[in-house]
Amino acid sequence: MDIVCRRCLLKDMTDSEYYRSIFEYVESLDETMRTPAPDYEARLAYCRQCSHLINGMCELCGCFVEVRAAKRQNHCAKDSRIW
Ligand code: SF4
Repeated sequence: MDIVCRRCLLKDMTDSEYYRSIFEYVESLDETMRTPAPDYEARLAYCRQCSHLINGMCELCGCFVEVRAAKRQNHCAKDSRIW
């Protein structure tokens, strides 16, 4: 198992470490904080259709949408009525 530095900046990581750290973060969220799986997929489906999605990031908030959508209390950066 590789060891990932938890205090590294993104620029210090390889691409694979970088993406893995994002997905590990999402996986590490407590169940009480995490968006239920069907809602998470619905959120991501909405982001996929959105003109503000650029390279996995929302241009309005600067978040990786897979992280933003994973937290139950978060909402769409454009309109909180959407998700
Ligand atoms: S969070 Fe909202 S504004 Fe941002 S990419 Fe997703 S749908 Fe678009």
